[in-house]
Amino acid sequence: MNSDVVIVGGGVIGLTTAYELAGRDVRVTLLDQGQPGREASWAGAGILPPAKPGDPAHPLTAMCRATNELWPDLSANLREMTGIDNGFRRCGGLGIGSHSNPKVLREEIVAWQQAGAVVETLSASDIAACESVINPNISELYRLPELAQVRNPWHLKALLSACHQRGVDIRTGVCVTSFHRNGRTIAGVNTTHERLNAGTVVIAAGAWSQELLASAGCPLQIEPMRGQIVLLACPQRPFRHVIECGPRYLVPRDDGRVLIGSTEESVGFNKQNTAEGLRGLLSFAEELVPSLRDALFERAWAGLRPRTVNGMPYIGRLPGQESLFVAAGHFRAGLHLSPVTGRVVSQLIMGEPPIVDVSALAPSTGG
Ligand SMILES: Cc1cc2nc3c(=O)[nH]c(=O)nc-3n(C[C@H](O)[C@H](O)[C@H](O)COP(=O)(O)OP(=O)(O)OC[C@H]3O[C@@H](n4cnc5c(N)ncnc54)[C@H](O)[C@@H]3O)c2cc1C
Repeated sequence: MNSDVVIVGGGVIGLTTAYELAGRDVRVTLLDQGQPGREASWAGAGILPPAKPGDPAHPLTAMCRATNELWPDLSANLREMTGIDNGFRRCGGLGIGSHSNPKVLREEIVAWQQAGAVVETLSASDIAACESVINPNISELYRLPELAQVRNPWHLKALLSACHQRGVDIRTGVCVTSFHRNGRTIAGVNTTHERLNAGTVVIAAGAWSQELLASAGCPLQIEPMRGQIVLLACPQRPFRHVIECGPRYLVPRDDGRVLIGSTEESVGFNKQNTAEGLRGLLSFAEELVPSLRDALFERAWAGLRPRTVNGMPYIGRLPGQESLFVAAGHFRAGLHLSPVTGRVVSQLIMGEPPIVDVSALAPSTGG
């Protein structure tokens, strides 16, 4: 049977798009070269910031606003459909800026304020009252009460189950190798198993998208950027807020686990952990929350973030290709932006006006 839409890649972007389309009675086939939801989307920390800090005219500002509006309903709907709690919680966040440079802290506060996020500045006594385990040498930080988190593996499990319920044909271990055409029009995909016909194809293959895009005649750059994570376990939750300092952070889960992330390394498709990466994360955690030195080491992993040249995802129809779309390159924000991305891509495919103007994210052959 032919599908209306074939989605290449079963990460959070592909699955959310499939969920949206299938909710509109579109026949969707989703193909993944491995197990869906086991790559970057599984590996991520699940931090959902309240805004895109900085210039409110930035193309991702409206995306962030829209995605933050969608998260509560999406989480509730998934829970109702599947019985799975995805762990969406508004836990709040604390920003440390940089210990050695108070100017960075001020700049970050201003950037959040510019974006319209609620920001509270905390002095030493406020910090002790807010999270008593934070290193007392940290005398100033800011609080983002609206920051939320989600448990990635739970969210993906819920999405997968909801997609099954909506009739999405999910095929695992099927690698898309190229596209087949009817004249100039893309008419489906060639895979390691078979050829599949479809009216529309969506490339949502995360860090692996570049090769597929090139084979469709669209040379966009998307490179893998390794991020390592360490998972610790404490007898109970040691603090409530996500604590962020530059690109690194601590994420407390309700069950006492604490996730320490993350590195940013350009090492190709290598997902191994390194001694240096883990040592850096562990000493970062201990410096911020000294009592974590007594926590149990549970495990470590790494994932490959899909990074574009300007750090923004490509979302939209490929130039000159009526039936081929891309939704890839979300870098550090793919979990956060997945609800709005899935919604917008499905609207573009259905020929509806999207809830957010994504024309600035449209792929162009100029890069
Ligand atoms: C350590 C780390 C921490 C992160 N923390 C956060 C965070 O706190 N908040 C946040 O919002 N984001 C975070 N991210 C980023 C986020 O995880 C990614 O942006 C997001 O998961 C990208 O989703 P995706 O669906 O595009 O890619 P992926 O999840 O990588 O999925 C792509 C899928 O495509 C499949 N595929 C690839 N090629 C083919 C092919 N040819 N044929 C068939 N299938 C194919 C793969 O098997 C894979 O399952 C983090 C990432 C990492 C690594």
